[in-house]
Amino acid sequence: MSNKIIIAIDGTSSTGKSTLAKRLAKKLKYLYIDSGAMYRALTLYAIQNKYISKSHFDSQKLIEDIPNIHIDFQYNQQNNKYEVHLNNNSVEKHIRSLKVSNLVSQIATVGELRKHMVKVQHFLGSKNGVIMDGRDIGTVVFPNAEIKFYLDASLELRAKRRYKELIEANYKISFDEVLSNIKLRDNQDINRKNSPLKIAPDSIVIKTDSFTLDELEEKLLSYISPKL
Ligand code: C5P
Repeated sequence: MSNKIIIAIDGTSSTGKSTLAKRLAKKLKYLYIDSGAMYRALTLYAIQNKYISKSHFDSQKLIEDIPNIHIDFQYNQQNNKYEVHLNNNSVEKHIRSLKVSNLVSQIATVGELRKHMVKVQHFLGSKNGVIMDGRDIGTVVFPNAEIKFYLDASLELRAKRRYKELIEANYKISFDEVLSNIKLRDNQDINRKNSPLKIAPDSIVIKTDSFTLDELEEKLLSYISPKL
């Protein structure tokens, strides 16, 4: 029987982390957890409850509301996908908007909120055979993960990829808006005090620019396979 492990994939925004994590999860029959979707769902909740806007952020109110916020992943039989749910409603279609994208990294700076997210992530990933992607998976959430990847790519390429994805998903957005959002999030994610995005010392660092998805999948699998 193969050894079920935890695979952590971290890196800057739009480096292909989630696309690769989904592919690998399918191939290995592992559970995939998109931790970014959880921070996005939390942000949507904060927007809906007017705790955050462009000009204000009442982090204390959001912290006090944690007991009323339930975030998990549920299987959608219609499209065969796991979708992030906020208080039992699928919010998958609402969390990639520019409004959420421009506020999520501010929400993600708050230590108390991160603590809660990590608790949920530990619960969701409590059985081995998990691939989780995000910013702090190899450093904070699963520091003992058997394998850790850190993906990066040039800003220009990341913005192009993200723009294409959003246009294909029918979001009305310009390339410049995507580019500045990625710059904003990189900056907030790298420079925050609580669990900043950084390369875990035992991470395998991969620059994704010059590879196709198939090549990247193969590359990651070549590191994973000996551990199984
Ligand atoms: O992965 P995605 O780009 O959807 O994540 C959205 C944002 O959520 C990130 O820019 C970051 O601010 C936050 N995040 C985080 N820690 C994680 C995953 C995401 O701070 N583990």
